[in-house]
Amino acid sequence: MIRVGVFGASGRVGKLLLEDLKETKDMSVSSVYVRNSLDFSIDPSILVSSDMKSFLNACDIVIDFSLPEACETLLEVAMKTPKPLVIGTTGLNTHQLNLLKQASEIMPVLYATNMSLGVALLNKLVYQASAALEGFDIEIVEMHHRHKKDAPSGTALTLSESAAAGRGLNLDKVRISGRDGNIGERTKDEIAVMALRGGDIVGRHTVGFYNDGEFIELNHTATSRNTFSKGAIRAGSWLADKEAGLYTISDCLEL
Ligand code: NAD
Repeated sequence: MIRVGVFGASGRVGKLLLEDLKETKDMSVSSVYVRNSLDFSIDPSILVSSDMKSFLNACDIVIDFSLPEACETLLEVAMKTPKPLVIGTTGLNTHQLNLLKQASEIMPVLYATNMSLGVALLNKLVYQASAALEGFDIEIVEMHHRHKKDAPSGTALTLSESAAAGRGLNLDKVRISGRDGNIGERTKDEIAVMALRGGDIVGRHTVGFYNDGEFIELNHTATSRNTFSKGAIRAGSWLADKEAGLYTISDCLEL
C-alpha cells in the first residue's frame, strides 16, 4: 500500500484527489498538509498537520496541487526529508523551477503542468506539426475558469515549448502574450500564447498552425478536473519506486 501525502487538499483539484484515492487500489491517503484547519471532515486515521516535517514523515509519496509559494516551501522541506514528489502546481518562477531541479537530484520528482493523457499526446503532436509545417504561423489560445491565478496556463507554456522545440527556436525570444495598439505586422517566428478567463471552464487549449490557404488547429478540452487528479494518482503509483531524477508525465505514460 502506497501512503500518499496530499498537499493542497482543500483546493479544487486536492479535494478530488482525496475522493479518487478512496477508490484507488494499493494507494491511500495517510497525511494532509493544512495551513490552518480543514473545513470538511476526513477519515480520523489520516494525519492532518500544519507541520511540514510531520506531514512528510507520515507518507511514502506526495502529490501537490497548491500554489507556487506553497510548492516552494514543500520543495525546501522535502530536501531535508526526501520523498517521491508529484508536482502539479503551475506558475512556478525561475527560482522555484531551479529548486525543483535541485530536489530531483536527491529524490524522484515528476513535474507536469498537465496530468492528462490527452495533453501529453498533444505535446507530441504539436512538436511534430511544428517541425513538419514549416512556414505556418503558430498561435496558442487557452481558456480557463475565472478563479485561475496564473496566466498563461502552465499547459499553454509547455505547449509553446513543444512548438518552439519543433522549430529549433528559443522560446524566450519568440513568445509573446498579448497584442494591443499599432504594433505592426506579425513577425515570422513569433508564437503568441493568449489567455482567456471566464465561468467554470476546466481547461481548453488550442494550438493553431496557420498558412495562406489552409490552417490546422489541434485542440484539447478537459471536461472534468478528475482527469488531473486521476492522472496524478497514476503518476504517483509509477513514481513511488523510481530513482532520484526529474520525470515528465510522458515518461510515466511511456509516450
Ligand atoms: P485552488 O486555489 O483551488 O487550491 C490551492 C490549494 O493550495 C488550496 O488547498 C490551498 O489551501 C493551498 N495553499 C495555498 N497557499 C498555500 C500555502 N502557502 N501553504 C499550503 N497550502 C497552500 O487551486 P486548484 O484549482 O486546485 O489548482 C492548484 C494548482 O494546480 C494550480 O497551480 C493550478 O494551476 C494547478 N493545476 C494543475 C493541473 C495539472 O494537471 N498539473 C491541473 C489543474 C490545476
